[in-house]
Amino acid sequence: MRLSRAILAAASIFTIAASTSASAEGVTVDDLLKDQSTAGDVLTNGQDIRGQRYSPLDKINTTNVASLAPAWVFQYGGEKQRGQEAQAIVSDGVIYVTASYSRVYAIDAKTGTEIWQYESRLPEGILPCCDVINRGAAILGNKIYFGTLDAQLVALDKKTGKVAWRKRMGDFKAGFSYSATPLIVPSKHGPLIVTGTSGSEFGIVGTVDARNVETGELVWSRPTIEGHVGTLLGKPSTMTGKKNESWPGDMWKWGGGAAWLGGTYDPDTKQIFMGVGNPAPWNSHLRPGDNKWGCGRIALNPDTGEINWGFQTTPHDGWDYDGVNEVISFDAGGKKLAATADRNGFFYVLDRTNGKFVNGFAFAENITWAKGLDKNGRPIYNKDNYPGDPKKSKDGKKGKGVFVVPSFLGGKNQMPMAYSQQTGLFYVPSNEWGMDLWNEPVSYKKGAAYLGAGFTIKPIFKDHIGSLKAVDPISGKIVWAVKNKAPLWGGILSTAGGLVFYGTPEGYLKALDAKTGKELWKFQTGSGIVAPPTTWEQDGEQIIGVSIGWGGAVPLWGGEVAKTVKHLNQGSSYWTFKLPKKMAAN
Ligand code: CA
Ligand code: CA
Repeated sequence: MRLSRAILAAASIFTIAASTSASAEGVTVDDLLKDQSTAGDVLTNGQDIRGQRYSPLDKINTTNVASLAPAWVFQYGGEKQRGQEAQAIVSDGVIYVTASYSRVYAIDAKTGTEIWQYESRLPEGILPCCDVINRGAAILGNKIYFGTLDAQLVALDKKTGKVAWRKRMGDFKAGFSYSATPLIVPSKHGPLIVTGTSGSEFGIVGTVDARNVETGELVWSRPTIEGHVGTLLGKPSTMTGKKNESWPGDMWKWGGGAAWLGGTYDPDTKQIFMGVGNPAPWNSHLRPGDNKWGCGRIALNPDTGEINWGFQTTPHDGWDYDGVNEVISFDAGGKKLAATADRNGFFYVLDRTNGKFVNGFAFAENITWAKGLDKNGRPIYNKDNYPGDPKKSKDGKKGKGVFVVPSFLGGKNQMPMAYSQQTGLFYVPSNEWGMDLWNEPVSYKKGAAYLGAGFTIKPIFKDHIGSLKAVDPISGKIVWAVKNKAPLWGGILSTAGGLVFYGTPEGYLKALDAKTGKELWKFQTGSGIVAPPTTWEQDGEQIIGVSIGWGGAVPLWGGEVAKTVKHLNQGSSYWTFKLPKKMAAN
């Protein structure tokens, strides 16, 4: 009797202690792993550490979404605006969102009132390739983490916005910059914060780096390009691949392969999935071979940083088809699968346990560079759709030009797709466009553009470039497609309310029926949307939130397409939406 009472007392003390310490230590790795199923917060990029961007919330649904209305809007302010590509984190009633020019805001989720603002001082001479954007913050414990345009990783106190630590990820003068969302994963070393960097257009060599979340110290580093040696706990570890196996001569030394879009994590197989950008330079005649792992996906062991498997979507890339796009884990037919929609216009389904090709098909129209995929998922090239070798031209300065579809901005670029557990479909924000492309001579020089190519992006259809596509990963069928005049550049959110949310450069946030693609709601926000929407529950109501502000790569690199979107106005704000109180109660 006495004993059981003692046990009970001890148990209740333990329970209290556990809950107290949990709140003191803030967000845990376990909270990150189960983010999708906890509707009161959004703790990961993708509303899910696997990146599914699917919410089980259904309070806003196909029957009532037409009444969705703004709750509040928050202005990022500042004289400079530019593209806002971030997904917000929402935790304990606070929204943490990053904005252009390496800024972070903490906002009261109920009222839209600012709690703090942090702006990283940027040096002269930063080299971001594709606008001064940032794609979002990460959260763990009582810290908020984000990366800056001069390639620093910064940890902030989530209550005050004060800097806890700051680490350099690369030399910005050599072309390193950072725009992705850091990924936090469990490992035998404790939680690690995992990042890539940008910079393939300047001949940097990509690495995936994992750091201690408390100190920022490097735990391991894995180069993405064959021939380079990684590190583990301060010592050299292993070489990525074999030197000169898929790269000629010294070209691997400036081989690009920036893992610039960040990654996802699969708790089931305990692997980090990262995408790898283009091999450098763009002029493919200078680097015969497959150029691993340029334009590929790699699965990494979080304990060691070793590559478990790699899958190249565009071996020997000649078109800047960066292979960075997100790898999303999902299960179907009793199989552990992962899907990714590539810049090169093809959609891939892989066995995520070993990276073996399961299924693949074109999601972009009129692809010219490849006839299709073989049984291993390797492209069947149209060899004459590589731009010509400048060495074979009369003056040696400009190789034969070609018209290629898709353009290097891709059948799909950085804007993340969503998977719906309700429909089993992927919702892919895609674009239909082509490019004139030619090669030029180039040699590596620190901090200088390392392309060896010239280009002009052009529309291929009169009435649209953007096309949101509902894709069946198993049958390869495009179930429906909704066209958009301007290129789509924001991401997608799918919900158990049978809805798909997305924004357009024309300024509309829209909700479609996930089954049919029928438009059920739209709202004009006043500037272009190039960020993915998110959703969470607050005081019993479902909220939709999204960052607003036109910009990103299209106005800067878009050639003839950029001219068609010149009239779109910049902006910079965060919007929330909910149902009117009366309706939400029904
Ligand atoms: Ca959650
Ligand atoms: Ca690139």
